[in-house]
Amino acid sequence: MDKRVAEILNRVLEDTPPTREDCIYLLGFHESTPEATFTRGVANDIARRKNGNTALVFGQIGLELFPCEEDCKFCSFGISHTGFKEKITLDEETIRQKVHDFTKDGDLYCLWLMTMSKFDLDYYINALKIAREVAPPQTLLYTNIGDTDYETFVMLKKAGADGVYHVVRLGEGTYTKISLERRQETINNARRAGLKLQDCLEPIGTEHTPEELVDHIFKTIEGGFDTAGVMKRTPVPGTCFTDEITNARLAQIVAVNALALTAVEPYPWIPVHEADPISLVSGANCICAETGVNPRDTEADTSKGRGLDVSACRKMLWQAGFKYLALGDGTRIELTPEYIAKCEASS
Ligand code: SF4
Repeated sequence: MDKRVAEILNRVLEDTPPTREDCIYLLGFHESTPEATFTRGVANDIARRKNGNTALVFGQIGLELFPCEEDCKFCSFGISHTGFKEKITLDEETIRQKVHDFTKDGDLYCLWLMTMSKFDLDYYINALKIAREVAPPQTLLYTNIGDTDYETFVMLKKAGADGVYHVVRLGEGTYTKISLERRQETINNARRAGLKLQDCLEPIGTEHTPEELVDHIFKTIEGGFDTAGVMKRTPVPGTCFTDEITNARLAQIVAVNALALTAVEPYPWIPVHEADPISLVSGANCICAETGVNPRDTEADTSKGRGLDVSACRKMLWQAGFKYLALGDGTRIELTPEYIAKCEASS
């Protein structure tokens, strides 16, 4: 075992967060090495100690789909390469049913309502109102929308939004037509409007260096986000990307992210996307059920494709050894086989 890695990990175990250079060093090892294995083990131990061995289930409903002019090279909706030609818009009844299906057991931490970069505000506000009406109060509502001004975020908050998922993505401005400044402005607008903020290191491909990854991790730390997730790039058929990092490498990045976040108080939640058991024993503690459209899928309804349902998420979290699920109001419920079975019986 490399001596410097042992020193870094021992220091974190004694509550000294790793430096930027330490994180770059840890990510320099291949995911199959003992150094990566020990990094994942220490991150798992620390993240569980920090949150009382508790996990979260998120849900996402993709409301609308049409070829998107922002044309992000990694997204199945980009106008230059998408296989989706028709506009798909979920109607009120479908939204109501999907929100009910995700939240009927009351244990979803938060629900994201996703639409495209450009969206009809009245439609979106109506969808938020439906979600707020159907979902229990302990489930938070998050927007996952395009770049937005302050006034609009104020209106979305009034309609029921608690927070936003908005990210300066890896390769922003290169793989996308959106500038870093525009993304950052949206994050600032949401913060000013009093909305909670979720960040994610995404979408990670094989070309991303330890330096680029660590840059994002430290910007997240400085930015003050409630969650700090990690997501790998899916090589969606039709996009120009055919490569992908392994789930073991994803878990190693999750682990370094979890170690770096020990600098933050309170310790943020750490989602991994897509859900994967290796990451869930390497510091990650949130996974997402998905229905409707999904930018990583070629199915119009991802619940028939890549998307997991809430029951599958509960089972994966229990298999990873988590003892509790936290809800959006801060309460926790015990995650047991009996609880999972009871929820399944009510379906
Ligand atoms: S990631 Fe968002 S902005 Fe980019 S092409 Fe897909 S829907 Fe449009």
